[in-house]
Amino acid sequence: MTSINQKSIIVIFGATGDLANRKLYPSIYRLFRKGKLSENFSVVGVARRPLTNEEFRNNVKKSIHQYEHDEIEYDQFAEHFHYIPFDVTDLAHYQELNDLLSQLDEKHRTEGNRIFYLAMAPEFFGTIAANLKSEGLTDTSGWTRLVIEKPFGHNLESAQVLNDQIRHSFREEQIYRIDHYLGKEMVQNIEVIRFANAIFESLWNNQFIANIQITSSETLGVEDRGKYYESSGALRDMFQNHMLQMMALIAMEPPIKLTPEEIRSEKVKVLRALKPITEDDVNNYFVRGQYDRGIVEEKAVNAYRESNGVEPESNTETFIAAKLLINNFRWAGVPFYIRTGKRMSTKSTEIVIQFKDLPMNLYDDKDKQMHPNLLVIHIQPGEGITLHVNAKKEEHGTTPTPIMLNYQNIENDKMNTTEAYEVLLYDCMCGDSTNFTHWDEVALSWKYVDIIAKAWERKADNFPNYLSGSTGPKDSERLLSRDGFHWWNVTEKGYTER
Ligand code: NAP
Repeated sequence: MTSINQKSIIVIFGATGDLANRKLYPSIYRLFRKGKLSENFSVVGVARRPLTNEEFRNNVKKSIHQYEHDEIEYDQFAEHFHYIPFDVTDLAHYQELNDLLSQLDEKHRTEGNRIFYLAMAPEFFGTIAANLKSEGLTDTSGWTRLVIEKPFGHNLESAQVLNDQIRHSFREEQIYRIDHYLGKEMVQNIEVIRFANAIFESLWNNQFIANIQITSSETLGVEDRGKYYESSGALRDMFQNHMLQMMALIAMEPPIKLTPEEIRSEKVKVLRALKPITEDDVNNYFVRGQYDRGIVEEKAVNAYRESNGVEPESNTETFIAAKLLINNFRWAGVPFYIRTGKRMSTKSTEIVIQFKDLPMNLYDDKDKQMHPNLLVIHIQPGEGITLHVNAKKEEHGTTPTPIMLNYQNIENDKMNTTEAYEVLLYDCMCGDSTNFTHWDEVALSWKYVDIIAKAWERKADNFPNYLSGSTGPKDSERLLSRDGFHWWNVTEKGYTER
């Protein structure tokens, strides 16, 4: 989308919280610096703490300074920020907010456009949406949009209740459900790599692809988020949203146009085509794990069960490996292996497409299997694409030797790399909902995930079952070896190892 100077007021509920400080203020600042926000914008922060505008502006400045080390054009930027001490359950506060928004609308000529960004605990989402409507904050001459953070529900039933609450006040096209993975540069690149390259798209099916692996591993543990994580686990925190979204982008059919509606319709078809599993079948397709003590980056670290806010006998999973099958003409028979975990040996998110082997080996060492062709999309921390092919290298005679064609997105200047939240905020201002999750996708993902959650709730596992700093439980390897495959751990520096 071309750059447009956007006119709007952004109201941030939870303006003193972690997300607002770490992600939203630096992102708004970058948009301002890049000229994507005109003079016609304002940010109103609301939270319970009794801050003055001055104190709020200083906090915003501090949080920007933590991430941006340039001399910021602060005064001009800061005068767009305002704060109201606010309790989201108190209707009188909404009246006060509405009055301020009307004044700011006139002052900054924002044409009645309002974004309500809910950077707060999900139990407040329904209440805030209802109060915004009942107190008239959604009646404006411009557009109004609601941005919602994850988690969107705990299962299909609670997600449905939440959705019904929100839909009383906002239409589906006004709701922007954030999945910040969809704002990442290389996740957005999946579509371009697939639909702008004849060499890939023609091979993108079960005739040529042996399997697809999507991995997102962290070296960190739950740190101080133990209490939240106990009610979520890797299944709800990562798999239901980020991992299934990446899978849908890899597997979808080419849309007839690159519009939000057409892309979403293709993603929904992938989720509908997922081979259903029964509770009794879960162990054949899913492996769960929980980290024990271990060594990470040369430091001894504690077990999950020893973290703050975690039950000493907790049955919460910090690792998942899964084998998914998509029952359609393109993908029948191709396993999609998905893996995500905390306290792993490396921090990395990547997608590996493994192509099928050639029917025979013509070269010297005929008994040896040739290295398969791999296309690797590196999502983070390195961003890039590598294509693994075989070629002759002088020292090996004519024996085919794996080499890599490598593209890395080098960050010359930190300011030029775009943060996911910056992309998503801007998309929302432009009314582009392509990289947000529609209710249909949320509902289908929960429907699939609920079966796994139920099976796991029925029976405790033998936790902990992997060491911190490892690649997860042994069963995760077996999930692939049963099919004759193994996980690829591919770094963007060019080494491929098991
Ligand atoms: P947080 O640090 O706990 O912040 C919560 C905010 O809500 C604070 O500003 C708090 O301010 C305000 N608040 C609490 N009760 C309130 C009330 N009754 N009325 C008005 N304000 C109230 O939470 P967070 O980490 O920023 O997370 C916010 C949301 O983003 C959650 O849904 C979370 O799941 C999601 N999320 C966060 C991250 C992240 O990196 N942090 C990542 C992904 C998703 P006062 O105490 O001043 O009222």
